Amino acid sequence: MKKFIFVLGVFLLVFGISCATEEMVGCILMPISGVLYFFGTTSKEFFAVFTMALGKYFIMAGGFILATALIFLIPTKRKEISDDVKNFKWKKFGIWKKRRTLFQIFILSLITFHICLVHFGHLNIPSMCPRSSTDLATVGTFGLSAVYWGTMYLLVFIWGRFICSWFCVYSFVQEQSNNLLRSFNKKVKTTVKHNKIIYVVTSIFWGSVIYNFLVFYMNNDTVYFQITNGYKVADLWVFLGGMATMLPLTMFLSHYFGNRFFCKYVCPVGGLISIYSRVGLLKIKIDYDKCKQCKLCSRDCQMGVSINKLIEKKSPAILDGNCIACGDCIDRCKFSALSFGINFPDVTGTIKRMAERIKGHKKEELGGVQ
Ligand code: SF4
Ligand code: SF4
Ligand code: SF4
Repeated sequence: MKKFIFVLGVFLLVFGISCATEEMVGCILMPISGVLYFFGTTSKEFFAVFTMALGKYFIMAGGFILATALIFLIPTKRKEISDDVKNFKWKKFGIWKKRRTLFQIFILSLITFHICLVHFGHLNIPSMCPRSSTDLATVGTFGLSAVYWGTMYLLVFIWGRFICSWFCVYSFVQEQSNNLLRSFNKKVKTTVKHNKIIYVVTSIFWGSVIYNFLVFYMNNDTVYFQITNGYKVADLWVFLGGMATMLPLTMFLSHYFGNRFFCKYVCPVGGLISIYSRVGLLKIKIDYDKCKQCKLCSRDCQMGVSINKLIEKKSPAILDGNCIACGDCIDRCKFSALSFGINFPDVTGTIKRMAERIKGHKKEELGGVQ
């Protein structure tokens, strides 16, 4: 019971800070934007209520509950808490994880630099967040963020889901949350089964963006494109504060629902990319002369890809729409059997397999009739 009161306090506090930093209308609530578009509103309009004005009440309530819970919790859990702190050991990063983290920090620095330039009046380029481009697309408006995201979606044909492990800001937050949990020796589920719910969210989201855009176009017979169209960049404190508050929120989600819960279940961007990333050229290649079938690589895949099943099927590479090309499995393999490489999609093989499947179905149907 005390634990639940503690968790409620933390949740309300983080929720309050998230409201105040406007992160509630940011990426975490993006998946439900699809439903909002159908009702003729955008996430920015709908969540305008979650601001500092409301956030302060959640912060006060959360702070009060948390303080009360701690008063009762600390005397009984003191040993456990001090053990957790004493046992804290930052987990070592493999070579690809180090490279990736440095690249993610570089991307965060670029965003911070962009925000600073806009605020000091040296640049007039709006926010590049994906929500900005989809919110605007529903009212027939496009800007630089639409060009950026359009390019990113096309690049998937070359580098697969590279964007999901190297570029996405929330990817950095999720990875660091998991590192923190593991460093405190807390459990993070990695084997969460993929769920079809992501395709429901993705279909609703993109279906409503396209539907609203077409309705707008048919009524107005025009689209508006201008490089400066888009949402204003966030204030620096809002962006950094938002990142900081997402960390504990994501630790909570990872601990209870599994590693990269958001990517596996609800992100409409990742959901869309996962449909066609399989045909991307850049892949993790498998060298069967070196592979010892030890299954170590499958154990810690942050996206829960069953690499051992692909190895059993003698797949030339990790051909799975959920693979985000992070390189963690390369770090994990002690026999250097995995590496980044180019894999040309086997178009004729896929057509043959599809034809065989259709033939099989027809035979079954005929058998049923006889
Ligand atoms: S699935 Fe979505 S949240 Fe996850 S890394 Fe990809 S774009 Fe980011
Ligand atoms: S860790 Fe390396 S050797 Fe072991 S199964 Fe995976 S690819 Fe093969
Ligand atoms: S299969 Fe390897 S590269 Fe792909 S997501 Fe899993 S650990 Fe990362």
